Amino acid sequence: MIYDIAIVGSGPAGLSAAINAKIRNKKIVLFGTENLSNKLTVAPSIDNYLGFFDISGEELKDKFQKHIESLDIEINTNKITNVYAMGDYFALMSGENMFEAKTVIIATGIQYGKPIKGEEEFLGKGVGYCATCDAPLYKGKRVAIIGYNKESEEEANFLNEIASKTYFIPMYKNEGLYRSVNIDEGIEIIKEKPLEIKGSKLVDKVSFKHKNIDVDGVFVIKDSSSPKTLVPGLESHGAHVKVDINMNTNIPGCFACGDCAGKPYSYIKSAGQGQIAALNAVAYLEKLKKNNTKTE
Ligand SMILES: Cc1cc2nc3c(=O)[nH]c(=O)nc-3n(C[C@H](O)[C@H](O)[C@H](O)COP(=O)(O)OP(=O)(O)OC[C@H]3O[C@@H](n4cnc5c(N)ncnc54)[C@H](O)[C@@H]3O)c2cc1C
Repeated sequence: MIYDIAIVGSGPAGLSAAINAKIRNKKIVLFGTENLSNKLTVAPSIDNYLGFFDISGEELKDKFQKHIESLDIEINTNKITNVYAMGDYFALMSGENMFEAKTVIIATGIQYGKPIKGEEEFLGKGVGYCATCDAPLYKGKRVAIIGYNKESEEEANFLNEIASKTYFIPMYKNEGLYRSVNIDEGIEIIKEKPLEIKGSKLVDKVSFKHKNIDVDGVFVIKDSSSPKTLVPGLESHGAHVKVDINMNTNIPGCFACGDCAGKPYSYIKSAGQGQIAALNAVAYLEKLKKNNTKTE
């Protein structure tokens, strides 16, 4: 099945895009996480979302959840690792699964902080962003999980079932929120900041201040994927996707919205941009339809 619109990201930007596209009767698929967005659930108090003030992130999340449920929108929890522009459609990859859509909306949020040295250089050469997608490649091998969120613990436990040695390196900033680390026995936890991911053609080491560990693969598990690495050929301005006022990117049929499309980082701006992206994706689909009937 070819979807009309694939939306990558289930934060306020992706959810708003999804409801607006669904109201316009489009066949959509929405990729994201069960809790919608970690950046939503961690906010202690939100005072700048019009109409909902003095509300916690959890409460706002519940309202968003009810809203998508009222429109029968489901979250597909496949993590998208690559989006390829194929000419008149897009192929979205998640491990061995492929999804096809006529348009794509990138709403992946932003990862605060810089990538680790070597992370981008070795992407696809031993570095990956989705352990469950690529796990079969690491059967009987040594892997390190550099985890920026709670889900990374599940990824580490899953990999440990097939890897010969698993290291888990938690990068959690907020110890209060992530105090309990639910890591299976046998996994070696390293509570030290990794300095560099090293190798020659392929990854073979992670270095720390006083030691190195030998590995065959490294998974960096973050809330958001860098749009540049997600969509080959996507133009960016620093960490942000370059968009115009209609949320068009440089790739026809590919739109971006929310934090990944620039500052200010805020819920209401993300939701607003999600709506603009969806409405312009709908207009793009209409144009495609007209062009196709003309050429028939
Ligand atoms: C502690 C904290 C407090 C905050 N308080 C406020 C506040 O009071 N007011 C305010 O306006 N803003 C606040 N913010 C900022 C706000 O959280 C963000 O601006 C907002 O969440 C951005 O929405 P988004 O939809 O662009 O991205 P996000 O909310 O980051 O959502 C992105 C989603 O995409 C998913 N995703 C990413 N990559 C992939 C992939 N490859 N495949 C599938 N899914 C993917 C992620 O898992 C996530 O679910 C706060 C942020 C933090 C961290």
